[in-house]
Amino acid sequence: MNKEDSTLTHLECTKCGKEYSSAEVHKLCSCGKVLFAAYDLEKAKETIDSESLKNRRYDIWRFHEIMPVLEPDYRFTLGEGWTPLIRIDNLGEKLELNNLYVKDEGLNPTGSFKSRGLCAAVSKAYELGVREFVIPTAGNAGAALSAYAAKTKTKAHVFMPQDTPEFIVTEIKALGANMHMVEGLITDAGRIAKEAAAKYDWFDVSTLKEPYRAEGKKTMGFELAEQFNWELPDVIIYPTGGGTGIIGMWKAFAELETLGLISSKRPKMITVQSSGCAPIVKAFNEGKDYAEFWENAETIAAGLRVPAAVADYLILQILRESKGTAVSVDDLTIKISMFQLAREEGIMLSPEAAATIAALDLLIEKGKIQSDEKIVTFGTGSGFTTPEVWERE
Ligand SMILES: *Cc1c(COP(=O)(O)O)cnc(C)c1O
Repeated sequence: MNKEDSTLTHLECTKCGKEYSSAEVHKLCSCGKVLFAAYDLEKAKETIDSESLKNRRYDIWRFHEIMPVLEPDYRFTLGEGWTPLIRIDNLGEKLELNNLYVKDEGLNPTGSFKSRGLCAAVSKAYELGVREFVIPTAGNAGAALSAYAAKTKTKAHVFMPQDTPEFIVTEIKALGANMHMVEGLITDAGRIAKEAAAKYDWFDVSTLKEPYRAEGKKTMGFELAEQFNWELPDVIIYPTGGGTGIIGMWKAFAELETLGLISSKRPKMITVQSSGCAPIVKAFNEGKDYAEFWENAETIAAGLRVPAAVADYLILQILRESKGTAVSVDDLTIKISMFQLAREEGIMLSPEAAATIAALDLLIEKGKIQSDEKIVTFGTGSGFTTPEVWERE
């Protein structure tokens, strides 16, 4: 195998198992469920090991054998990925959690981990000939798409709610995307974006409605494993909207185990949502396999204002299989946690990210996390993207 190769083989439905060629663009399976990229992991094993990783690039293409882009020239980058894993001792001491970390995704291009997913999706679609994209967004995904569209000289059409955080709208404009403000929520933006995609033949990169954003997000799982010296933490706390990150990391762990890089030990995966929009928490508590649409969704954590997730069944499956859980926190607690993290740890994170910190008390109370466990909270976005939230303390 050439040292720059990808071992991508095909696409496979996560529900019915139907296979599709990875040489052409596909969205969802004909059964309506999510497609995953599949790799020849036996072949990938020949070149990936902890030693060979030492001389590699520090971005999402670091594990290029198990990433979907075949042609090295199409592995575009703005420096996404390889974010720091920061121990937060001051808060940890207060909560009597001895191994508490933040994975600071706010340091990614455009200030959120959305850049990982859109870097992968845009790069792969580019390789397959796509030059015009459309996305419905709560904000960050639109900013990320706009940046990679600029980088690849392609076109981005961004559909977002009228009340999208102000700075993110400014950001998307600055990055040169075509903006469309929509009355309603991300689900309304999604419907309009889908119509436009069909009408103008634009490629829709909605969360998990094409297979490659999850491939970009899975790199968070690769990094966690490597940063913890190939032993995964005990707990991952993740602010969940569409769930790409949880789903991507879970896939990454399976791939790493097959490659012989980690054992079968898995973290408890914990979803945090806002009490103003918590469809996954509700479905988890009711023991359901799918989540119901959440009416009148409202929260300062814009990225968590996702009333319906196309991959709800995958998120719920992972939470249960990992013996994790799902909890919700209210906006005031989220805001307090933003300031706490800023003043006690020097880290300014977005409301979605701070929700994971806000959930710690509740998780301790419920006995879901223990003081000596290694706990990673996902700091999915930078606090710089929501100046209005800081100004109104
Ligand atoms: C999109 C977003 C989320 C939710 O991520 P999913 O992977 O869709 O669940 C969380 N935090 C921030 C900052 C986001 O932009």
